[in-house]
Amino acid sequence: MSGPNTNYDPVEVAALDPAVIEAAVAEALGAIESAASIEELKAARIGVQGERSPLALANREIGALPPSARAEAGKRVGAARARVAAALTAREAELERERDERILVEERADVTLPALRRPPGARHPVELVAQRLVDTFVSMGWEVAEGPELESEWLNFDALNLGPDHPARQMQDTFFLDPVDCGLVLRTQTSPVQIRTMLERQPPIYVVAPGKVYRTDDLDATHTPVFHQIECLAVDRGLTMAHLRGALDAFVRAMFGEGTRTRVRASYFPFTEPSMETDFGCFVCHGAGTSGDGGSCRTCGGSGWIELGGSGMVNRKVLRACGIDPEVYSGFAFGLGIERALMLRHGVQGMHEMVEGDVRFSQQFGREV
Ligand SMILES: [Zn+2]
Repeated sequence: MSGPNTNYDPVEVAALDPAVIEAAVAEALGAIESAASIEELKAARIGVQGERSPLALANREIGALPPSARAEAGKRVGAARARVAAALTAREAELERERDERILVEERADVTLPALRRPPGARHPVELVAQRLVDTFVSMGWEVAEGPELESEWLNFDALNLGPDHPARQMQDTFFLDPVDCGLVLRTQTSPVQIRTMLERQPPIYVVAPGKVYRTDDLDATHTPVFHQIECLAVDRGLTMAHLRGALDAFVRAMFGEGTRTRVRASYFPFTEPSMETDFGCFVCHGAGTSGDGGSCRTCGGSGWIELGGSGMVNRKVLRACGIDPEVYSGFAFGLGIERALMLRHGVQGMHEMVEGDVRFSQQFGREV
């Protein structure tokens, strides 16, 4: 067996030749220096430090050398690799510093620029008025009732004592669903909610029903094909018109302020008997009918009273149709259009303002959410 090859000269191994190593270092330093970004430096690192880089290959040759030659060759290759590693670290620090400086310049925030403010959304004034009225009744122990906007003809008309030939049925211009004999309409009033409530449960019933209703009107200053109503229904033992007046008073005071008075005039609605139109004292002239300059009050037209809406004692026929015994129970109901209440209360000039969704209109009512 021959001994180790002690005369082996590492310089004779091409990869370990000092000139070759020096050239590899020079090439590596060049590649590192020319890397213009951190990404490029990453790619360069693989070329100069990776497993297949010239210096890594040279390092591998050292293992094949005789022990006596390894130290010298190892020192040479090690020093070369250290120079490359140091150059990588230095270049990396330099590129990071450049990047940070660039970000500081590019992403600088000019705090003196005017801000783009997006105002928070808020509920529509119609919704706010409806909510205030609902809250008034809920605080008195009433419940909120809701029903579908697509309603059966029977609930929208017949159950409310509006038979097929009733003139009021023609008076209300209705959106019928196609085919007409399907018996469905877009509800023309919130009253079917009252019928639904009476069908579903027994008295005592105290419900307030706000909601959208539909008529085939064109949009103009006082009409809109979609608007909102709020209706109240009470059915209990011994309810009289005095209770109705009390509820109406609470209603108008919530809407138009403490001390607002109401009056009722005989009227006719199929759903109620007796029926009344309700007026309330003008909240501008407080019933005087005159304005500050001696002319007549513009809000009430000089009468001192403003029409609120219909009311009355629930027709016995309606109670009976809903399975409630009119000999035991009586009820009252009243309602009004919310848009109309809003127009009156806030002097809104036309229906357009309320339906067009211009935030400049809504903003006048605050940003309640
Ligand atoms: Zn007035």
